[in-house]
Amino acid sequence: MNTKMYCNQCEEAAGNKACTVQGVCGKDYELANLLDELKEYLKVLSTQIENDPVGHQKEKRFIMDSLFKLITNANFNKENIRKQIALAKSYTKRDDVVAYEEENEDINALKSLIMGGLMGMAAYHSHAIHLGYEDQDIHNFMVKTLANFNELHDLESALAVVDETGAYGVKVMALLDKANTTSYGNPEITNVNIGVGDRPGILISGHDLADLAQLLEQSKDSGVDIYTHSEMLPAHYYPKFKQYSHLKGNYGNAWWKQTTEFETFNGPILFTTNCIVPPKANASYKERLYATGNCDYPGFKRIPVNSDGTKDFSEVIAQAKTCTAPTEIETGSITGGFAHNQVLALADTVVENIKNGSIRKFVVMSGCDGRKRDRNYYENFAASLKDDAIILTSGCAKYRYNKLNLGDINGVPRVLDAGQCNDSYSWVVIAMKLQEIFKLNDINELPISFNIAWYEQKAIIVLLSLLHLGIKDIKVGPSLPSYLSPATANYLVEHYGISGINTVEQDLTTFG
Ligand code: SF4
Ligand code: SF4
Repeated sequence: MNTKMYCNQCEEAAGNKACTVQGVCGKDYELANLLDELKEYLKVLSTQIENDPVGHQKEKRFIMDSLFKLITNANFNKENIRKQIALAKSYTKRDDVVAYEEENEDINALKSLIMGGLMGMAAYHSHAIHLGYEDQDIHNFMVKTLANFNELHDLESALAVVDETGAYGVKVMALLDKANTTSYGNPEITNVNIGVGDRPGILISGHDLADLAQLLEQSKDSGVDIYTHSEMLPAHYYPKFKQYSHLKGNYGNAWWKQTTEFETFNGPILFTTNCIVPPKANASYKERLYATGNCDYPGFKRIPVNSDGTKDFSEVIAQAKTCTAPTEIETGSITGGFAHNQVLALADTVVENIKNGSIRKFVVMSGCDGRKRDRNYYENFAASLKDDAIILTSGCAKYRYNKLNLGDINGVPRVLDAGQCNDSYSWVVIAMKLQEIFKLNDINELPISFNIAWYEQKAIIVLLSLLHLGIKDIKVGPSLPSYLSPATANYLVEHYGISGINTVEQDLTTFG
């Protein structure tokens, strides 16, 4: 058995190089190798579909789900991955695959960006499909890219695929935006309670709004309250979910704090997607953990799926009834709901404040939070920005500064939260609108800077989308992906102006 592993797909890669013995995320070599094997089967299956392109709807969804399972912190259950590999074997009629290694470090870097982008794309497409929005072009792009992945040998072709991945990133984010807003209404300004009530609660984490919708409906008369965690926070901004009075508030902060915050929640916790942190051996909440969809962890209870595809949350609701109410860890509220529709409704006010000089700058600080200490940078950066600057955020990066009370500019809050990481799409829509209003030839002439925090592969598809749209001079931190070779890093600097972060003081000077 291969007891070695090599994984460098996320920002926590050991020594900023790669995890080779044990993943910092908790993934061991056996799981890492199973995930690698699954990845190779996806390429074989995609090649077979490319050669015989009619039909294959089931296989295309399988590829999407498998890519989702490959995301960092999504699926730690070896049995789940083994079943996926068994399915891949039945689809491909193959019993083994050859491990793939790209020897050219520059091509390898670009392939890592492409693979990360595909994983993020798969997650977003999966959420959209759960709401009835499926795009065959997106499936076909994934299949084509995986089918040709190992044959991509020259830099020019690889760079073209990186750009095309970004183009499909924009497409999938637009699709998910349409799915979310058509299903649940346009996000609107909302104060979200961060305290607790006196009834037992269920904490729902992850990103899948369709799961939340079903849980809310099934629990509405149960005497149990529903709390959101981490990136599920933006659910509160949607009009449809506001109709449920037992959607009580948001409990806790970004994903990586879950091992302490779950200790005090006291009720069941439901994961709908990544980001799972392995519970400690003595965690008090171990018997109250549930998973659904593509995420999983050994010992978590699975949510049953009915024959019509709906989910049965009765067990988690029944368990919640036996629990005590959450212990309060914070009080007050946080404000969000500034997706494109809401911000464009405020366009006159925003434009007036730009014209009269009250708003001088927007800084997009979207992306991921994480447990590395150097992420304090983002908190300090946000707190140190001059008070004529507005922060545009999405993703769990917001938890570094959304409770700092940074005030407002003539009624426009200084931290505008659009929602989940895919809602970075809103900043693109808003930037394009401002470009039109100010009659600018180039989007980069707007007073908008990008200081993005990444951790996992959804942030990569967001980054590739921004690059495809021609956004320049993006800062990426807290460190650049370790798989970037010196030559590819240089290319990104020269063509897109991408750079890593420096000290807060230096970057404040750069951002002006
Ligand atoms: S996902 Fe990240 S932390 Fe986990 S093994 Fe890979 S590089 Fe390491
Ligand atoms: S933004 Fe990234 S790190 Fe944060 S919860 Fe979403 S997927 Fe996880």
